[in-house]
Amino acid sequence: MQRTADSNTSLRIAIQKSGRLTDKTIDLLKGIGLRFDDYKRNLLVKCRNFDVELLLIRDDDIPEYVQDGVCDLGFVGANETQEKGADVTVLRGLDYGVCRLSLAARKDGDIQSVNDFEGKTIATSYPKLTRDFFEEKDINTDVVTISGAVEIAPRLEVADAICDIVSTGNTLKANGLQELVTILESETELIQTNKKLSPGKKKLIDKFLQRMDGHQQAERSRYIMMNAPQDSVQKIKEIIPSLKSPTVMPLADNGMVAIHTVIPIDEFWVVMERLKAEGASGIVILPIESMIL
Ligand code: AMP
Repeated sequence: MQRTADSNTSLRIAIQKSGRLTDKTIDLLKGIGLRFDDYKRNLLVKCRNFDVELLLIRDDDIPEYVQDGVCDLGFVGANETQEKGADVTVLRGLDYGVCRLSLAARKDGDIQSVNDFEGKTIATSYPKLTRDFFEEKDINTDVVTISGAVEIAPRLEVADAICDIVSTGNTLKANGLQELVTILESETELIQTNKKLSPGKKKLIDKFLQRMDGHQQAERSRYIMMNAPQDSVQKIKEIIPSLKSPTVMPLADNGMVAIHTVIPIDEFWVVMERLKAEGASGIVILPIESMIL
């Protein structure tokens, strides 16, 4: 019997079995309090404390499993979902597995810009995205699908250029290639099936998302504590990009207060310099486990 997304009350979540996205995804799931064993040895793992089971599969299979409702949710790179043209909903973009899909050609060759691709052969593991890109630009190319070691294709004279995933660009350089155009910016995404879900599953997804959002927000924030002269409180309030109004408590030393608040990590150093200039001292920064707003 074929399973549909609706035929079971446990949420089934697809994640990459072993690869670049696996550890970060497992850390994220553990970070939101999910407890499970043996994910390295089993393909289907039941969580002990949340109505979720994890299906560990190849990342390029994830978009279709989610599209078909075999899994309700999946963690996978946008590159895979878009290459498959999967009919799914992207619930969240997650800032890991960040990479781009780019066109590259020999550094010293005759392809130096997009228009030079006319009539050329391109090797790639992403034929759909490559063809879509050139069709849209009305440039004729011959796209050859290769499953691995794409960057070697120009040297083997199998292709004039490649379209491949890049993160640092070192692999391209090592193969005498230059990156010419980025056709897709990618990161890991949480995707959801578009098949009908029961109210029970929808509730589970809401709960799951609330935990994820709390965790993501906490990762990007720090709890900050400092002492400051009472007279500086107003100025300090203006400096701190706080979630809500900071907690201000009197100290035993006359005229001094303790200020506690939460700030986005990106702004910490700029804020700290300005706080010091306003007389803040004993500044302590702490990580936050989770935040429910
Ligand atoms: P893996 O099969 O383990 O190499 O994982 C591949 C997935 O990781 C890709 O589909 C991308 O979503 C992501 N990724 C991030 N950076 C890179 C990279 N430099 N090369 C290949 N994949 C990457």
